[in-house]
Amino acid sequence: MEKKLNLLILLCLSVVSNAQDFDFFYFVQQWPGSYCDTKQSCCYPTTGKPPSDFGIHGLWPNYKDGSYPSNCDPSNSYDQSKISDLISKMQENWATLACPSNSGSTFWSHEWDKHGTCSESVLDQHSYFGTALNLKSKLDLLQILQSAGINPDGSLYSLSTIRSTISNAIGYTPWIQCNVDEQGNSQLYQVYVCVDNSGSNLIECPVFPNGKCGSSIEFPSF
Ligand code: AMP
Repeated sequence: MEKKLNLLILLCLSVVSNAQDFDFFYFVQQWPGSYCDTKQSCCYPTTGKPPSDFGIHGLWPNYKDGSYPSNCDPSNSYDQSKISDLISKMQENWATLACPSNSGSTFWSHEWDKHGTCSESVLDQHSYFGTALNLKSKLDLLQILQSAGINPDGSLYSLSTIRSTISNAIGYTPWIQCNVDEQGNSQLYQVYVCVDNSGSNLIECPVFPNGKCGSSIEFPSF
């Protein structure tokens, strides 16, 4: 009888932990110029103006059907003391632009609590942030675009050229997300690539997010 009960408990636990599982990650990089030139505007972090480069927005566990888990483990909330060796790299590559100005910990804790806790079966907090930083260092989007003559100079570029330039360079199809500047022009905001559920390898995206860009989009300066 007791054995049967144990088995039942085990089964229930595995259902609960499977519910937290996920199929792949979106790794999302953001062009800071396109965050800042909008109606909402932006605030530089207390550590100063971020580099004129794509910054990390997040590493997001996702399901193949397009939905995603969030806030999976309130008992494992953000603890900056676990990533003290990564902070200077985070300031450089994962800059907050939200107002009011802060060091970045508000953004990082949001990302860990909402998304990171949903992949804790694979990546603990240190490896979650470390994996994202590592992906960023391997995916130098600005260099890829600039070497094809696509520069953050406020001019318009063809969306399909941006997409094929990135896809030829990395071997996988990215998803380009646009937003609009204060005048309502469609612009290059975020670039999504997909990563397998170990966090180590790029994959073709099982599903793309929603959204729409113009056929030619602005690449604003920062
Ligand atoms: P998420 O909840 O991870 O899907 O991200 C969306 C949230 O992140 C929104 O509240 C955005 O305003 C915020 N966000 C996006 N980019 C940045 C940034 N560079 N700095 C601070 N917050 C940001």
